[in-house]
Amino acid sequence: MTCELIFVGTELLLGDILNTNAQYLSQRLASLGVSVLHQSVVGDNATRLTETLTVALSRSDMVITTGGLGPTKDDLTKEVCAAFFDLPLCPDEESLLAIRAFFARRGGGMPKSNEKQAWMPQGAVIFPNHNGTAPGCAMEKDKKHILILPGPPREMTAMFEESAVPYLRPYLDGVICSHEIRTFGIGESAMAERVSDLLDAQNPTVAPYAKSGEALLRVTAKAKTAAEAEALLAPVLQEIQSRLGDWIYGIDVHSMEEATVQLLKEKHLTVTTAESCTAGLVPKRITDIAGASDVFACGIVSYSEAIKQSLLGVKKETLAAHTVYSEAVAIEMAHGAWLRSGASVAAAITGIAGPDPTEDGRGPGLAYLATTDGKTVWTKTVQTGHTAGDCRDYNRTVFATHLLNEIRLFALYAPAKRPGGIPLKEEF
Ligand code: ATP
Ligand code: MG
Repeated sequence: MTCELIFVGTELLLGDILNTNAQYLSQRLASLGVSVLHQSVVGDNATRLTETLTVALSRSDMVITTGGLGPTKDDLTKEVCAAFFDLPLCPDEESLLAIRAFFARRGGGMPKSNEKQAWMPQGAVIFPNHNGTAPGCAMEKDKKHILILPGPPREMTAMFEESAVPYLRPYLDGVICSHEIRTFGIGESAMAERVSDLLDAQNPTVAPYAKSGEALLRVTAKAKTAAEAEALLAPVLQEIQSRLGDWIYGIDVHSMEEATVQLLKEKHLTVTTAESCTAGLVPKRITDIAGASDVFACGIVSYSEAIKQSLLGVKKETLAAHTVYSEAVAIEMAHGAWLRSGASVAAAITGIAGPDPTEDGRGPGLAYLATTDGKTVWTKTVQTGHTAGDCRDYNRTVFATHLLNEIRLFALYAPAKRPGGIPLKEEF
């Protein structure tokens, strides 16, 4: 079944609101195996909506609209779509009762204008709205379908799942399942090279893309049932995992912090951070994840050299010999944080976010990271490659992701030691 999406609302055309309904519906329809061929945005205007419907239904089996189902004059989607199929609007008793009940739950009566929301196209399959007033519906004529859904995302998504998906079921000729493999520390092209032979396959397809300094692969299979699609996906996922190894930080996870917190929990580890240039970004991201208190001890933002010395025990001589932007200082920060917190692992970072380089011409985009369990230390030097212009935000985000990744790698190998570490010096 082929489909087009029409988003109705002048505020969308003006850029006042972001068209998040487009992303939601496109993703969901793809996963249901429905090919979305076009998306259009139309203002609250009957003539232009009719024009758009005419074009869309001349080339596709189905149109789904969102928006314009409200009680006011400018809400005209239902009227225009019903007229398009020559369907009169008739009062629907059940919808009227539901709208009245909605207002009663709020402790008031139904305004007269809301009555129009209970007038539905004759013969339409009505989609109740459990989160608002406007019902949606599906209408059919000559094997063409129009589904109308409300604009507010909360109402739209619930109605789509509860009513539109069951309506679509008989027309679906298969399902599409996909998994997102997230990697970090390997560039998009280097990652793609390692799986280049898989990128030509048709079912499953493997598609690389990049997002905020990360490289991702989407693996997608189409089959009659979800179980069959998963069976096609499993060997490809396994092959990719064997080729990309530790670069993969998660499959179908939302973020590096989610993967890191999950792993720390599984391994019963706790973490503390000592940050200079990222100044709290890493604890912020760790604690964005619900249940972070199981794994997160504390975060120390040690921005000035004086605090690095007094709070973390960074030595004056180390600062003098290596400057504050150095691996040696990162190691001492990590050790100081580990001593003070009693956490399983401490991770530290010092670096140059930008926009200006240091007096000795280093950075921006250069950072030194150290992770320690009190006995062994793992270090990493990061060069983001973003040295010019408005690079500060990007560098800090990527630095933070690197530090989270260092924590993840520590946890990944625990209780065995992550390879590559060096013993902390005697003097600690
Ligand atoms: P209402 O009863 O609230 O008037 P409606 O079905 O008439 O609902 P609209 O008036 O078109 O919908 O939009 C109502 C609100 O829903 C918008 O102000 C906006 O916040 C949100 N909205 C509408 N369309 C979209 C969209 N495509 N993506 C994201 N949000 C949207
Ligand atoms: Mg409206």
